[in-house]
This record gives sequence, structure tokens and C-alpha cells, in this order.
Amino acid sequence: MPRYKQTSEIVSILKDRSRVRNIGIIAHVDHGKTTMSDSLLAASGLLSPSMAGKALALDYLEEEQKRGITIKTANISLLHEMDGTSYVINLIDTPGHVDFTGKVTRALRAIDGAIVVVDAVEEVMVQTETVTRQALAERVRPLLYINKVDRLITELRLPLDEIQKRLARVIARFNSLIDIFGEEQYKEEWKISPEKNNVAFGSAKDRWGFTPEMAQKEGLSFKDILDYYETGNLEELRQRALLHRAMLDMVTRHIPPPLEAQRYRIEKIWRGDLKSELGQAMLNCDENGPIAFMVTSVIVDEKAGVVATGRLLSGTLASGREVYLINNASKDRILQVSMYMGPYREIVDEMIAGNIPAALGLDKVFAGETVSSHQEMIPFEAIKYVSEPVVTIAIEPESSRDLPRLISALRKLAIEDPNLVVKIDEETGEYLLSGMGVLHLEISIHSLEDQGLKVMTSQPIVVYRETVSARSEDFPGKSPNKHNRFILYVERLEDEILELITQGEIPWPMDRRGLARILSQRGWPMDEARRVWEIDNRGNILVNLTKGVQYLDETKSMIISAFNNVSDEGILCREPTRGQKIVLLDAELHEDPAHRTFAQIFPAIRRAIFGAILTARPSIYEPVMKLSVQVPADLIGKVSGLVSSKRGAITSIDQREYFAVVNGEIPLAETFDLSQVLRGATGGKAFWSLVFEKWKLLPRSLLSEVIKDIRKRKGLSERLPKAGDFRPT
Ligand code: GDP
Repeated sequence: MPRYKQTSEIVSILKDRSRVRNIGIIAHVDHGKTTMSDSLLAASGLLSPSMAGKALALDYLEEEQKRGITIKTANISLLHEMDGTSYVINLIDTPGHVDFTGKVTRALRAIDGAIVVVDAVEEVMVQTETVTRQALAERVRPLLYINKVDRLITELRLPLDEIQKRLARVIARFNSLIDIFGEEQYKEEWKISPEKNNVAFGSAKDRWGFTPEMAQKEGLSFKDILDYYETGNLEELRQRALLHRAMLDMVTRHIPPPLEAQRYRIEKIWRGDLKSELGQAMLNCDENGPIAFMVTSVIVDEKAGVVATGRLLSGTLASGREVYLINNASKDRILQVSMYMGPYREIVDEMIAGNIPAALGLDKVFAGETVSSHQEMIPFEAIKYVSEPVVTIAIEPESSRDLPRLISALRKLAIEDPNLVVKIDEETGEYLLSGMGVLHLEISIHSLEDQGLKVMTSQPIVVYRETVSARSEDFPGKSPNKHNRFILYVERLEDEILELITQGEIPWPMDRRGLARILSQRGWPMDEARRVWEIDNRGNILVNLTKGVQYLDETKSMIISAFNNVSDEGILCREPTRGQKIVLLDAELHEDPAHRTFAQIFPAIRRAIFGAILTARPSIYEPVMKLSVQVPADLIGKVSGLVSSKRGAITSIDQREYFAVVNGEIPLAETFDLSQVLRGATGGKAFWSLVFEKWKLLPRSLLSEVIKDIRKRKGLSERLPKAGDFRPT
């Protein structure tokens, strides 16, 4: 039963941080994460006074549970009593699908421990391994919950010793993950063993579970469990083996409270100077330190507006506080702070470090943002995940009456998920949704349908990037009125610098001297390194090497606009560009400002860049996905044959006892029918995942065909433009 608590009572627990735990639940899909979380919420959820005031509060909670609230809220706070003390356990939602680059890691950074749910029959699977590895990489301590033990009894009808053998095997297998991926100094302590009581067994469906310690106290043995199933007296089993108690006891005992966890976790989740004031404050979880708030999730609430939830690592959040959004480089004011009670938010005056507050009023915040009282904080996460979508679909409401609703729902989606980009195609009047993979888009569309919107979608369309492979000619540009002239060239940006920019390591705008240092260390002449005018986060860069040109400063912003315009839409097929270094060599400008307006300068520069690109062996990048397929070992050959037939490559094959994991890469363009083809080739026995991996140059042999297709789709002329078209007369 959810409990009614006064807000003040919970606030007092949150202030005593030895009684707080921040955790997540991670699992392979279908292993029972949702069922288990729902049963925790049902047993330990809190009803806030405002909810309890409503007569229907309980029904409402049940209804929400039926619909699986765990996937909708940013956080759920549970209350747990152990040995006469009350604890608050914050459960942050950690998505299992790795298609959303960043989302899983982001959630993992905010938690100190994770319950890993493993199906007793299927045992450790691909995603169990992926998420556990990610958790260990973020120094998140794992606990093991072996679920669906009922299946061993009722489905497989295994005898007692066989059941015990299976469970021991899951533990051993899990420990080998810790062995391989854990850090030296933690792995022995973190390994799972029944003696340590950091493992629990149970059935979330039948709502029972226990740790060895609980079973011992209760005098409950595996034999008894079998008997309960024999007689069908599950109700008694439930009473004797309370699932939520097993989970939450385990968490309370083994997951360190924030004060302890932050001491060793900060160096993993933040790259700044640990000796600085901010570094020290986070290490010590200092409520009086500067604000360091790592936003893990942003939700648009119909009534409250933009709600940013995350881990507060240092300082105190209070309404009225002015804070900086570091990646966004803006300042804002917190209007309201709330804490979670169960899945609901309750307004509080303030929340102190170590907790999971929700902040209202930060309109420009996005998931992954770093919020601080210091203007110059090194962010937890650079915005590298944003604006690199690789696949697009067009979306339309079935009924045009729904158009306004669709627009607002799409806007909301884009705020909540920074990896989604929503765009209006003015030519066709369609709405375009771009994301990190087909699954990513499918899930987003699903959430629209959940809101009762009926939509039609197009086939997925691959997003490409245009680039150059050589240095161009020094190309001239002239304004339409012929009074302004330019000379510039384009060349390929060095891969290393391209990586730094797209990984967010070179933020823009950036301090000129710092930037000059980074670029000159990587081989740029100092004179060039000091003269960068603009960088865009897709990895294009504009350098001004002119000397003594009069009025240049007055046209700078127009030149940058033209540069940005080309970054958004290249000349080959109007796809965004990547890795282009554009160098302005010389300019001659009319003395009269009336003759060097935007309408003159912008087209002159844009055409010169286009012309230059066309003399620099232009080329196209395509998105390549990382593919991981789990199959029975005898099907490895089929899978690798299929991957090669789709321009893919196998990178490794990992043989296990019962199955193999085939890892490889495959161009996104070749993946749209993958699910069908794989199913056909393996008789439905393959489990697979696809994640965006990198941009890769398209083979020359495919270049003209791909360009032609894109141009056709966009209604552009079939004839490819030539440099001569852009040479001024
Ligand atoms: P998730 O994908 O990890 O969130 O898994 P769900 O909680 O949605 O569960 C997947 C399926 O497994 C559902 O059909 C559940 O009813 C079922 N399930 C969950 N826990 C158990 C369990 O303990 N025993 C059995 N037999 N089925 C379970």
C-alpha cells in the first residue's frame, strides 16, 4: 500500500543524506524490469498530501501502474523502513534500449547503484551485458535480482538441485562481467554472492522475492518455494517473501549514500579539476557549495511547463536562484523546486546536494544540460549528442484537424528528447522527425499515438553529410551589384580536429587563446589558429586570413551567415556539411554601406563557397550503425553472410556457452529491412540491436547514384551543379 506522508517528514529524510539512495533498475528487454518496478511502487510508493487529498488518489495510482508509470516519470521516490529507520530511495528511469545514444549513460551518471534484473530462464543476455558494462564504466555499483524463478518451477519443471545450479550459473556469469568490465579497486567488493546478500531471487509476476538473509530469518528454503507452487498457496509465499523488502533492503545495505558515493564517483562523471572549489564541493556533496546540477531528464508538463530533473551534486536548489545553463551559455532563474513523492512532484522550498530535485522555470534546458551557479563550469556532458540525427521520417496527422495538436506534441517531444529534431518542410508542408535510428523514431511515434494522435509516416530517409576530399582552387566571389569581391578556398578539416569539435571538446563560442592553443598543437600555423571566425558543431570551421581589408568587420556577420547556411545545406544535394574548413583569403568591399548589404554579401560568399567545394572533390558521408546480433552458435555463418551482403563488416564474434554474439557495422541505409531479413535467416532466433556508430565516406562507386536519389526526392534538378556555374562573370 502506498503510504501517506507529510512532505515535511520526507524533507527531513532528504536532508539527512545518510538515509538517501539513488539507484536505477537495468535489464535486458522483457526480463521484468517494469513488473518489478511497478511492484516496488505499489508497495513503497509515497502519496503526497496533494494526491492523498483527492478521494481517488489510490485508484489513480493503480491506473497509472497499469499503464506502466515507470517509463513516463523521470524519477520515483520510494520510502523504505529498515531496522527502525526510514530511507528514501530514488529510482531514476534508465532506458534499456541503446538506440538513444547518451540517454542510458546520462541516467547512469545520476545513480550510485543499479539493480540488474536477469530472467532465470534466459540468463545473462546481450543487453544485460551492455547495460552492466555501462554501469560499471560509470562506477555504478550493481546488485543482482534473478527474476522469473517461477518459470524454472512451472515451465521447465526443474528439480531443486537443478534450479540451484541454474541460479548459481547466473551469478557466476554475472560475476564474470564484473571481472571483465569492473575496475580493479572495486571488483572484488562488488562481486555478487549469496553470503553477501547482494543478490535476490524471486518472481515479479507472482510478487515474491527474497535475499538469502531474509529467507534464513523467515526459515524459508527453495524447497518451500516449490511446495508453495505445488499447493498453489502463493499468497502465503508473498507474505513471507516480500519482494519490495528484498529489493530495498539490498539497496539500502549495499548502495552507498550520496555522501559516500560522490567521493569516488565524481572523478568518473566530471572532467574538471577536482581540487577546485567546485570539484571539492561535489566530492563532499556540499550543500553550501556552488550549484552543480546534472539534468538527466526534461519533461514538458501541461500545467507546470518545462520540468528539469536530475542529480544535484553540490549546492542547494531553491526557487528564485539564478543559475547558468552551461551548454546553452545562458542564464536563467529557477521558479520552483520540487521533490518526488512516488511518481508525483511536490513543491518544496529547497533541495540540497545528493538528491534528485526537479527544477521549474529553466525554459532553455535540455536533457544532458549542466546547471550551475558558476558561469564557467566544465559541463558533465558536452552537447555532442544533439543535432546529429541520422534518419528522418515525414509525419502527418490522419485528420488535418489534428494538425495543431500534432505540432504541439512534436514540439514537446523535441524538448524532452534532445536527440530528436523536428523540422517543417516548407515545400511539402510535411513535418519531419529526425533521430538516432529507426527504433528511436518508432518509439517517439508510439508516444504520439499514446496521446491519441493518429499519424501517417513515410519510409525512413537516411540523413547524409556533404564534405570535400581535397583542397579547392582559390575561388572568386562577386556580389550581384559587382561592387564587392572575395577570394576563398575550401579544404578538408583534419580528422582529429573534426572529432574534437563534434565530440563537444571544442565548444563554440570559445576563448580565442584557448582555441588557438588547441589548433596550433595539432599542426595549424599560429597565424591561422588565431583567426577562426566561426565553428559549427557538425565540424565546419571558418577562418579569416585576409589582411587589412577595409570594412571587413562590418560585413563579418553576413559572411558568417553564408558560412552557416552552407553548413546547413551543401551544394551536392542540400544535406548538411561536415569537416569543411573554409578560408577567406582576400576581399574588396565597397566604401558605401548601401552597396554592401546582406543581400549583396551573403550570396557572394555562398556562391564562392559552393564553387570552391565543386573543385575540391566533393564527397558524401553516410551514417554507419553498430550492429550486435545474438544468435545460436550454428547460425553465425548466416548472420555474417547477411551482414556482408549489406555492405557491412563483422568486427568480432563472441562465442558463449549457448549462443554467440556477432558484432559488426552496417550502413544505416541497408538496415531498414534488417529485422525481416534477420528473422527469415535465423527462424526468429536472433536478437539484435543497432546504434549509431560513426559517419563514413560513401564508396565512390555509389556517390553519383546516392546524390541523384536525394536530389530527386528533394525536387532538385537532376543535373549536378558544376564549379563553372558559380564563377563570377
Ligand atoms: P521489461 O521489458 O524488463 O520491463 O519486462 P516486463 O516487466 O514488461 O515483463 C516482460 C514480460 O515478462 C511480461 O509479460 C511480464 O508479465 C513477464 N514477467 C515479468 N516478471 C515475471 C516473472 O517473474 N515471471 C514470469 N513468468 N513472467 C514475468
